[in-house]
Amino acid sequence: MKTLAGAVMAARRRFAEAGLADAAFEARYLIGGLLGLSSTQVFTGGDRLLTLSETARISDAIERRLHHEPVHRILGSRDFFGLTLKLSKETLEPRPDTETLVEAVLPHARRIAEEKGSLRLLDMGTGTGAIALALAKSVPQLTAVGSDISRGALDTALANAHLNGIENRFSTCESRWFDRIEGCFDIIVSNPPYIRSDVIPQLAEDVRFFDPMAALDGGPDGLDAYRDIADGVGPFLQPDGMIGLEIGFDQKETVAAIFRSRGFELVEAVRDYGGNDRVLLLRAGREDKPSS
Ligand code: GLN
Repeated sequence: MKTLAGAVMAARRRFAEAGLADAAFEARYLIGGLLGLSSTQVFTGGDRLLTLSETARISDAIERRLHHEPVHRILGSRDFFGLTLKLSKETLEPRPDTETLVEAVLPHARRIAEEKGSLRLLDMGTGTGAIALALAKSVPQLTAVGSDISRGALDTALANAHLNGIENRFSTCESRWFDRIEGCFDIIVSNPPYIRSDVIPQLAEDVRFFDPMAALDGGPDGLDAYRDIADGVGPFLQPDGMIGLEIGFDQKETVAAIFRSRGFELVEAVRDYGGNDRVLLLRAGREDKPSS
């Protein structure tokens, strides 16, 4: 019979041989996650004997990781802004970069909630529901709609709303951008596909083989989604409403220009933890603004 420590050591060796950057951490994290153990329990419980079915599950998971499947996809969920979110093949795995968007929007959501008593948010291309659910969790007066072209993604987002106790303030809409959206929103957010089509083949296998292409491919210049959103957003945004967008590291000027040409102005650009431009906050242009 195999011990936990033996299994972790064997996984670590195979990951290292395959060139995984952080083989030791991944081995502990994957096996701990499969068995429902914290990293401390994995460290201190090395003598634990594994059952045959645990051993089988661990070797299946190791094979999947060696075929580039990300650890959280194998485990089926990951944490995002204090929530646990299920993943499915139709959903992008939420990244820490996207927490920057949540953090940037949060003070505005709180301010509007304070001023109006309630607020409505639309998250376009919601995927797992990450952005909408994180904001709803943090702002009790917030009601969110998550839209997506993928029915499967919306099913996952709804499951995540239930999992995190937000199902009463979250609904979904199957829609390509604004095609089937109804109503007016105080805040509209999106982490749309923004990778240039010709860059997709160069993405790491973990991303290219496992994140859905519809969530990554932003068209020939990576900006298709921003043009669609800027063209359609007008009637769906309250006059004093706010748009919050995740962008690629080199897209600040181009995305701001797309929105400026449709009458919106940049409120703030925010960098991610890695120091890259990652988020733009925009609003409808103010005609009464003094020219300078
Ligand atoms: N941040 C993702 C990546 O680089 C891309 C997400 C997106 O296109 N919205 O893998």
